[in-house]
Amino acid sequence: MPRQSKDYYAILGVPRDASQEDIKKAYKKLIKQWHPDLHPENKKEAEEKFKEIQEAYEVLSDPQKKAMYDRFGYVGETEFAQQSSGSPFEDVFRDFESFFGRDVFDIFFGERGTEERQQTRRRSGEDISITVEIDFTESLVGKQIPVEYDRYEKCDHCDGQGIEPGSGYQTCPRCHGTGVIREERRSVFGVFVSTKTCGTCGGTGKVVKEKCHVCGGTGRVKKRIRTTVNIPAGISDGTRLRIDGAGNAGYGGGPYGDLYIVVHVKPDKRFRRQDDDIYVDVSIDYIQAILGATIKIDLPTGGSTMLRIPPGTQPGSIFRLKGEGAPSVRTGKRGDLYVTVNVKIPDSVSSEEARLLKELAKIRGTNI
Ligand SMILES: [Zn+2]
Ligand SMILES: [Zn+2]
Repeated sequence: MPRQSKDYYAILGVPRDASQEDIKKAYKKLIKQWHPDLHPENKKEAEEKFKEIQEAYEVLSDPQKKAMYDRFGYVGETEFAQQSSGSPFEDVFRDFESFFGRDVFDIFFGERGTEERQQTRRRSGEDISITVEIDFTESLVGKQIPVEYDRYEKCDHCDGQGIEPGSGYQTCPRCHGTGVIREERRSVFGVFVSTKTCGTCGGTGKVVKEKCHVCGGTGRVKKRIRTTVNIPAGISDGTRLRIDGAGNAGYGGGPYGDLYIVVHVKPDKRFRRQDDDIYVDVSIDYIQAILGATIKIDLPTGGSTMLRIPPGTQPGSIFRLKGEGAPSVRTGKRGDLYVTVNVKIPDSVSSEEARLLKELAKIRGTNI
């Protein structure tokens, strides 16, 4: 999936070496300047801009995401951000809540805060979790993998409201608009009267005249999603990637849930990973151990390199190949490759070899 990567630094108007303080300052200034309510004449554009500023800040203010962005030019987790439908304004709210806490409403929405906040309480959609499997080598170099999953999307026909457009509400036939049900129970002691909330209308006294005929009143329709996910280089087994807003649609037009991608890295037959270092065992001949040799070492990312084994190498010796380990997802800095050298003792030797070894034993005064 080709992607236009955005220049988050340019969006916030800060140099690439800007401090967190400067980034925050630039963000605060811009977000006030571009608040959609201040641009009624070109609200759409302001909303876009607002969202972009916010996206840039979300990445640059988070050391991990920033490091990933600086290295790869994008952040895996925000890849689907564009996909969430619903008005961009809703997304803005949800994102604010998740990374700022509640204070932000007081700063930007003043008096109207309460009203807006209630809207965000419309139930949000469920998160979805899927598992993908990649090879060990792929986990070191990164991979774009196709994924397929089902999710609920907002029903376009009723705009997520579950009501057939134009049908409106009618008085609840069960409670006749009172929202409560009266129950009378007669016994020898007299008549007992109790009231409870009407289950048909949930106490509102109103019911939908006609449910949306597309989604059956749920406001959501199931859809098969086929897309591509970027697995960043250096990812380790069991890592969870979060993709904002790629989960199920919310209820009543509420915000989308998130998609979690659990990455399973298939174990390799030869290479083992620990943190960002990788370990491998190789075997050499006893002659090579005694006399020294240059041997070929396969690298975990593919390809090979030559390793010089000095004369007199002991079984179990460990050699370090600097920077040939796994890249750190956070910093991109690579770990090392540790090569443990085992010395092969032949099961059997030819008579000629045996003769020479006996000669050697004699020279060395070795008792055999
Ligand atoms: Zn009712
Ligand atoms: Zn519908």
